[in-house]
Amino acid sequence: MAYDCYCAICGVGFCGMHIETPSEASLERRRRWIEKRYRAMKASSNNPPLPHENEARDDPVRSYDPRIVGWDNVSWLYKAYCLGLSDQPDTKSKAFISGPGYYADIGEIAVKTESESGHTQQRNVFACYGSGSDDARGPVIPFHWCCYEILTRTLTGSTDTNNVNTDVLYTVMNDLCNMSGSALDVTYGPDYCATHPTNTPTLEKFIQTSVTEDKDLRVPPTKIHLNGRSPTSPFGNLPLEMIYRICSFLPGESIKALTEASLSMHLVSQHNYFWEKTIQWDMPWLSEFHALKAGKEKSSLPDDINYKRLYLWLDNMTAPRYGMDNPSLTGVANRRRIWKVCEQLAPRYLKGLEEVAQK
Ligand SMILES: [Zn+2]
Repeated sequence: MAYDCYCAICGVGFCGMHIETPSEASLERRRRWIEKRYRAMKASSNNPPLPHENEARDDPVRSYDPRIVGWDNVSWLYKAYCLGLSDQPDTKSKAFISGPGYYADIGEIAVKTESESGHTQQRNVFACYGSGSDDARGPVIPFHWCCYEILTRTLTGSTDTNNVNTDVLYTVMNDLCNMSGSALDVTYGPDYCATHPTNTPTLEKFIQTSVTEDKDLRVPPTKIHLNGRSPTSPFGNLPLEMIYRICSFLPGESIKALTEASLSMHLVSQHNYFWEKTIQWDMPWLSEFHALKAGKEKSSLPDDINYKRLYLWLDNMTAPRYGMDNPSLTGVANRRRIWKVCEQLAPRYLKGLEEVAQK
């Protein structure tokens, strides 16, 4: 391949995956490498090394772990779809989605389609992030379908991809194409996991079993003793509904910081309900847990959950990090990372929708 180009939504390339051979020696080398890299990353979290500074003295392991990743579960990475601009002048929607196709090198995606009669096959070639091709007048934006489904949920709150205004989305993404024509100019975060982000069949059971069996997640919430202190922060004057509303706009880290900085917020956060809502606000990507919650009447979750502890546990378990090896969690960690990319696109998309509505 001359060069790779990357999914606009997850930032992972459409080719060039390498899975390690499952020999004892290579697995041992991988274990040592991950341990060393993990220690180095932890030690340098406040003072990141220059790129590859730590890797120069060793042969780095850049392949995927064969115990976690197989060709069957990375095949999704090779299936490319794209969002482009139609040549047809009289169509209602100017943007179109094509695929599945495959990456055909030099930044192009090829999509084979059958004619309506089914007798002939057509091959369209689209130029990604570039300047257009014979088959589309502008550049196309490439992505994986599951990444587009996650984007749909972030932008519309629904799972129906037909709810996305593709004209607006095309404008947003096209404006964000990076200088090298390989991805969007957004922060993708490190792609530690190649696991499919939405096909996570064991996650719901994993959460349910953990919550049921881990007694630490079900100890009663701690009562706060004021010991003569009196809350003075402005949050103490706000109705609870207003506080919940404010918190719904904050990331989990900021909510935790706020409950530590403000005694009023600290008091509010002693209620189990506060953390139950925080999981809902801060983890919209954790659909398996929300499905379990929705099915509570079927006793899918115990009644005595300590939601603060559960929030912290879920936050830690699903955080994308180097060396993750729990197959129940790598997919959702990938989804969580992708969701953060989608959240960068959402304000531009919503602004685009407003502008269309005002025309
Ligand atoms: Zn993707």
